[in-house]
Amino acid sequence: HVKVGVLALQGAFIEHIHTMSSIAEVTEAIPVRTKEQLDSVDALIIPGGESTAMALIAERCGMLEPLREFVRRKPTWGTCAGMILLADEASKTKKGGQQLLGGLHISVNRNQFGSQRESFETNLHMPEVLGSDEPFHAVFIRAPIITELKSDDVKVLGKLGNQIGDNSAETIVAVQQGHLMATAFHPELTRDDRLHRYFVRIALEHKI
Ligand code: GLN
Repeated sequence: HVKVGVLALQGAFIEHIHTMSSIAEVTEAIPVRTKEQLDSVDALIIPGGESTAMALIAERCGMLEPLREFVRRKPTWGTCAGMILLADEASKTKKGGQQLLGGLHISVNRNQFGSQRESFETNLHMPEVLGSDEPFHAVFIRAPIITELKSDDVKVLGKLGNQIGDNSAETIVAVQQGHLMATAFHPELTRDDRLHRYFVRIALEHKI
């Protein structure tokens, strides 16, 4: 069994807590705002929101270093803004750059889909992860995309189909690197909990 924390400095954390609380192997799902709370969990979700704001708040409340330390060792899943924070490198960041946690060997592009297409929904085929051919209905909101895999340890879990044009180098929307997982979309906004269950499996496998 695992205790799961959801970083609750900013963004869409409540929905993750609700979904995680309903999974049998999860003893407890708690919002994480302090180092003590972070130290008490086996695995962490960094939710969607605004990565620049989340990083600033983390920095102000002394959580940046504890978070960096956590993601180096313990199971962590970043969704959307959380994926940006986990990335080693992010483009389209504010002047002067923004703080990242890093650890996940990918480059991401923030706000990939621009203003004409701020948000959209699409079905993703991820049979390896989901254990079936039934697609995952994915909600993208001012979403980033993965532009580069910087290590062979990064495994692609999900890709967009041709509906986003044919720029196949920039269609990766879900990855795993050992104890780290990242999705560009918001699985907590749908009733489908299969990705939450997949992360719980990662958390159980990599529990320390
Ligand atoms: N565009 C946001 C960012 O750059 C991410 C959006 C989201 O998390 N839904 O941080």
